[in-house]
Amino acid sequence: MAMKDYEFWFVVGSQFLYGPEVLATVSKRAEEMCAKMNKGGKLPCRIVYKTTVKTSEDATDTIIAANADPTCAGIITWCHTFSPSKMWLTGLKLLQKPYCHFATQYNREIPDTEIDMDFMNLNQAAHGDREHGFIAARLRTPRKVIAGYWQDAPVQARLGDWMRVAVGVAVSKSLKVMRYGDNMRNVAVTEGDKILVQEKLGWQVNTWPVGKLVEYINAVTDKEVDALMAEYKKLYTFNTKNLASVRYQAKEEIAMKKMLDAEGCRAFTNTFEDLYGMEQLPGLASQRLMAQGYGYGGEGDWKVSAMTAVIKAMAEGKKGGTAFMEDYTYHLAKGKEYSLGAHMLEVCPTVAAGKPKIEVHPLGIGGKADPARLVFEGRAGKAIVVSLVDMGGRLRMIVQDIECIKPIMKMPNLPVARVMWRAMPDLTTGVECWVTAGGAHHTTLTYDVTAEQMRDFARIMGLEFVHITKETTVEGLEHELFLNDLAWKLR
Ligand code: MN
Repeated sequence: MAMKDYEFWFVVGSQFLYGPEVLATVSKRAEEMCAKMNKGGKLPCRIVYKTTVKTSEDATDTIIAANADPTCAGIITWCHTFSPSKMWLTGLKLLQKPYCHFATQYNREIPDTEIDMDFMNLNQAAHGDREHGFIAARLRTPRKVIAGYWQDAPVQARLGDWMRVAVGVAVSKSLKVMRYGDNMRNVAVTEGDKILVQEKLGWQVNTWPVGKLVEYINAVTDKEVDALMAEYKKLYTFNTKNLASVRYQAKEEIAMKKMLDAEGCRAFTNTFEDLYGMEQLPGLASQRLMAQGYGYGGEGDWKVSAMTAVIKAMAEGKKGGTAFMEDYTYHLAKGKEYSLGAHMLEVCPTVAAGKPKIEVHPLGIGGKADPARLVFEGRAGKAIVVSLVDMGGRLRMIVQDIECIKPIMKMPNLPVARVMWRAMPDLTTGVECWVTAGGAHHTTLTYDVTAEQMRDFARIMGLEFVHITKETTVEGLEHELFLNDLAWKLR
């Protein structure tokens, strides 16, 4: 399902106390609000007025129906009037979909001369929403609270951002990851409890033999390769004469795509330690699949692969880019401290500042033929890097704010795509925080999804969330991690 195929249910709270006329007005206005918000251009999915809840049965039936409907990516609640929240209790305990409490009101202003007790009875979101907020707080129901006037573009944009997160949740819950081979030998941070991950995030992580992929590769026809080469020629500059190497990557791309689609997988991993029967480590091939929305993780890193697929799904239609990334090396010159991110081959070209070049170079490790890859500079702009690590019994998501820059040097002999950035709050404090929190060398780098959205995702999924910002100090972070550890032991 694409982003536009999902919808969100607008569920309004009220009660019978006010009489049928008030309830009719509430319904009519809720319809009008959905219609106007859908036209506002800020929501990636449709918001659909579903019902006005007046009894416990209404709330429970609506929530059960939302749980069962695969097109419903979440519910958005609001109380036009007062809605006694004990009647929401049974339903909220059953809720399995993302939940946003939209604390708004129909009218923008208090109508000075018209306000009377009839107006007060009809327009009491200010205290209706407090009653509604209490029950979710009391039940510890994870939810996003967005307050503001519903016709304001920034408020609709925040609602839209949350919708993207909820669609990411739907994608996550059905995500299948194809592993070609196991994790790179002896590496710790790419490991994890696959059962815990399936329980918390829905990811089905399974392995397929590399030999099966080799069968797919050998079955690709010259005609299929010719067609893909024509596409490469349109999109990239050929900076190599070794077309045989490029053609082999095209074969790998076609083969992996067929195999992923046949199994319904939206993410994959491989490792240079297990390429038995393959001529090259997929470079260009993996980069191309990432650009089409598949998640990828090198060295068997299925966590970063799945996270990249989910973040790409959240970012559908956005133009900044989202890539598998690895912190490689630092520039520690005073006042110009930067991180250089890259990978052996596989950086997604959606983050490229210009037209990528196809080049062929030796790999140095893995003992295979020289692989073709896309080489480019990443674009400048605000972004985040995201890492998910297994702490033993729980998953920790670490997000760091970064500012990408145009690389300050050409690095003509570096044969891979590269992104340069300033980590927050500054390079050395940022590194101290990242290392203290146990963040991996592999990350998902995204210009399109914000830290607030990742926090929303972590809340919905029950993950520990750590955010390194321009305000973060090592001391504060250590204290936070210590308290988190205590809190998670109690869960
Ligand atoms: Mn790596």
